Amino acid sequence: THFGFSRVPMSEKQGLVGRVFGSVAPSYDVMNDAMSLGVHRLWKSAFVADMAPTRGMRILDCAGGTADIAFRVAARTGGTAPVVVADINPKMLEVGQKRAREASIGEKAVRFVEANAESLPFPDGEFDVYAISFGMRNVPQVDRALAEAFRVLKKGGRFMMLEFAKVDNPPAAAFYDAYSFKVIPAIGKYIAGDEAAYRYLVESIRQFPAQDEFVSMMKDAGFVNNTVTDYSLGITATYSGFKP
Ligand code: SAM
Repeated sequence: THFGFSRVPMSEKQGLVGRVFGSVAPSYDVMNDAMSLGVHRLWKSAFVADMAPTRGMRILDCAGGTADIAFRVAARTGGTAPVVVADINPKMLEVGQKRAREASIGEKAVRFVEANAESLPFPDGEFDVYAISFGMRNVPQVDRALAEAFRVLKKGGRFMMLEFAKVDNPPAAAFYDAYSFKVIPAIGKYIAGDEAAYRYLVESIRQFPAQDEFVSMMKDAGFVNNTVTDYSLGITATYSGFKP
């Protein structure tokens, strides 16, 4: 299969993304550790620390996949802040559900729903927090996903995104490029047996808007008090904004 992302028309992107995550689901968690040398765990923990979930808060983990964010919320709150994990891919959700069973995390704490970020099956004003971790990059129409995030949040609710961003420091950027284009596809080949899927990953990171560009998209969607914080020199960043 060829996952040459830049040559894929918008109408075919969701199908491509579906094949990528359908194929990598069983090895997804191991691959994250291998590719990031475990650092994705630190980024996710910092993201959830910044969220500071408390009892009774209603949280959407959109494009939540195998539920790394949801499980961190459950751990911090003892399951008292109900999280809905919404993802378009049933294979990714299955892995998440299996992990929830193994950790004895019940439906009250974390619930799984198959859903498209571009048209969420939730009423207006349902959530206090909309979180999306490494998901936005995979959604074909980012402006639609942002509009849906805005819709399902309560007034005063918070949009939070963790995503690959742009490294600004030239030597670090050169090193990161070499790592991305050489090391990641090689790890993909040996661990996940799927080099093409991990080339998609690297290409999708290149194509995604830089920090300032994404903040202006948040503004266009209606969010206010928007901020962005770089992690690891901008390899990733967290974005935060509020529904007025
Ligand atoms: N949030 C998890 C994490 O941080 O580990 C999973 C991130 S994974 C890189 C991206 C996820 O986005 C996949 O599970 C994929 O199925 C999901 N996804 C892609 N397009 C989507 C869409 N349109 N709506 C909802 N989820 C989508």
